[in-house]
Amino acid sequence: MSFNIVIDPRYPCDSVHQLFDREELFKKAQITSTLISDQFSVEKTVPGEVFLQQDSRHEFCSYLAYLGKYEKDKVSSVALAGLSESFGRLKDSMKPSASLPDSAAPGGPCIAGELRLFVNTDGDLYPCERVSETSEAMKIGNLRDGFDLSKVDRLINVAQDTAENCKNCWAFRHCMLCCAQSDNCGELSADLRSSQCSKVRAQVEEKFRDYLWMREFGVPYDIMN
Ligand code: SF4
Ligand code: SF4
Repeated sequence: MSFNIVIDPRYPCDSVHQLFDREELFKKAQITSTLISDQFSVEKTVPGEVFLQQDSRHEFCSYLAYLGKYEKDKVSSVALAGLSESFGRLKDSMKPSASLPDSAAPGGPCIAGELRLFVNTDGDLYPCERVSETSEAMKIGNLRDGFDLSKVDRLINVAQDTAENCKNCWAFRHCMLCCAQSDNCGELSADLRSSQCSKVRAQVEEKFRDYLWMREFGVPYDIMN
């Protein structure tokens, strides 16, 4: 069984971590967590001071536990699972390869509908809970008629909108942009996608720094290599 928690960072998060540590139901479950997406909300979710302190403490304790400097039993299972997932992604993305394949998408967005299919109360289908339910571009079918494969195809291949830039981008393998970030009120926009490239490249640089310091501090090689 798996649970995906969507956390609202405006509020303290200790009680969420404690719930998943305390309840028997969650002990053997696979837990993933993410922050609420405010991309399409008028009201923005600015993280609260208490949330930031508590979240940083959980993350710091998880790093210490991975380095063998703190008992894993004392660390939040939600935080440990989050760090383990991010190690896994980092490990995959840092695998050396001689060249890029003949055909590929930057970073590898999901196959829309295959990974985290989301169904709204009208039975309409969307790639996941992080896209806008009011966007026609994101609607990939409904329960009665099934998937609209042309829409799925369009979302999977959203990077074709910025193909020339992507082919020459050093962050190609690490780019996290997907169809959700191209959604400009119901239409996929290449300009909107391109406007986020410098932020993506800054995040990738941060990821490289994390990789280097973790290797320097001796995070076990079976995790990092
Ligand atoms: S956020 Fe993007 S890549 Fe992730 S599941 Fe949703 S549509 Fe797919
Ligand atoms: S950062 Fe921009 S140019 Fe680079 S791969 Fe991602 S979308 Fe393409």
